[in-house]
Amino acid sequence: MREKINPAPELKEIEILYVEDEDIIRESLASLISRHIKKLHIAENGEEGLKMYKELSPDVVITDIQMPIKNGLDMAKEIKEINKDARIILTTAFGDSEYLLAAIDLEINGYMIKPINRNRLFSLLNDNAKYVLHEKQKARFQAYAQQIIDSQSNMLILLNSNLEIIKSNKSFMEFFGLDSRERLKDKHGGINEIIVPIDKGDHYINKIDLKTIDKILDGETKKHIVVLKDNHGRYKSFAFHASKLTNEKNMTEYILSFTDVTALDNENRTLEKNVVTDKLTGIYNRHKFDEMLEIEIGKSERSKGSLAIVFFDIDHFKIVNDKHGHDVGDEVLKSFAKIVKSSLRSTDTFARWGGEEFAVLIPDTNIEDATHFAQRLRKDIEEFSFENVGRVTSSFGVALYKSGENVVDFLKRVDNALYEAKNSGRNRVVSSK
Ligand code: GH3
Ligand code: MG
Ligand code: MG
Repeated sequence: MREKINPAPELKEIEILYVEDEDIIRESLASLISRHIKKLHIAENGEEGLKMYKELSPDVVITDIQMPIKNGLDMAKEIKEINKDARIILTTAFGDSEYLLAAIDLEINGYMIKPINRNRLFSLLNDNAKYVLHEKQKARFQAYAQQIIDSQSNMLILLNSNLEIIKSNKSFMEFFGLDSRERLKDKHGGINEIIVPIDKGDHYINKIDLKTIDKILDGETKKHIVVLKDNHGRYKSFAFHASKLTNEKNMTEYILSFTDVTALDNENRTLEKNVVTDKLTGIYNRHKFDEMLEIEIGKSERSKGSLAIVFFDIDHFKIVNDKHGHDVGDEVLKSFAKIVKSSLRSTDTFARWGGEEFAVLIPDTNIEDATHFAQRLRKDIEEFSFENVGRVTSSFGVALYKSGENVVDFLKRVDNALYEAKNSGRNRVVSSK
């Protein structure tokens, strides 16, 4: 004879919902288990069972399959939709085996064929009870650990070895205006998406990679300040610390902590301006242009207004540098920016895209007006006499944003137009179709 399986002590801590329409079967199983568990709840069909599940959230559900009103599989399915980790055990009549495939799909946690065998019953219940208690313990521990990290006023994040944010504390979430269900990763992509690069002073960290973290761990670097932008668009400076740990799966993780030192960081007063300004010309930099482009595209989509970009690039600027020297070249760039600036409306965004390339973002315009504006600029520049250099020309690409177009495609079109202007002889304007 097989050894008798006894109810495990863990059963005393779990509540079971038992759903069965046949009185005799129900009463016999109920009498078998009720005194070994914390509490037994009883329902007579799937609909009643579902209602009780919602009210009581029992640890384990035992259910018959064939029942009036709502059958056990449909009920199980709806319970799994409420809680995908719900523990469900099916009882089936011998002829019900075709239902078992559906039960496997639902990831049922066990089944018993009627008449119910006592050993099978307690073996399943014991296993499920142990699992449930283990999970509860784990959840309690996690909540406890979360409370500890939330109690820190420093911002803390946990990164995996791919530098993805897998956990963060309350201060961190609040800084970015995230609620507890949102993950920073979903909103920003990753750790480097939230760091504002500062090309100033060697104590700023512009990018976090494993090498940076290792250097910080080894005390090998002076860099220890990062700049982050909160959800109100404010820039703050943080002292940055890292520590390395090994998780329960023996994988390396990193805890990063950020202490707000904005008040101490002297640079911070000018920081906001530095972040968006091109040093040489004093106009916006590409970072700011990208930001404005995204904002203006959003506005144009909402108001059905139009939006144009004018891209331009000084012709043969390399020759200017070669002939007159880099410093004179710099002066040309500054004067060039000044000329353009004097022709702008207050709603236009003007930025140095890089090198001797510039961009103007013009809201509420059409392709004719934007092209006309570019022609006027082209002429103003052509007619200007730059100190030490004389005449300088530039080539222009113009494009109007098409509703629904993505930023990359939009920029590509205007870039292609500029390319065409260069290729067809320079000192001209080409508009994208
Ligand atoms: P193209 O008509 O095809 O645009 O010819 P280009 O010579 O203007 O273009 P290219 O891209 O070959 O060279 C750009 C030059 O601009 C080379 C680079 O040294 C110079 N440049 C980029 N940034 C600066 C800067 O900040 N100051 C100075 N003086 N020169 C710069
Ligand atoms: Mg050029
Ligand atoms: Mg160029």
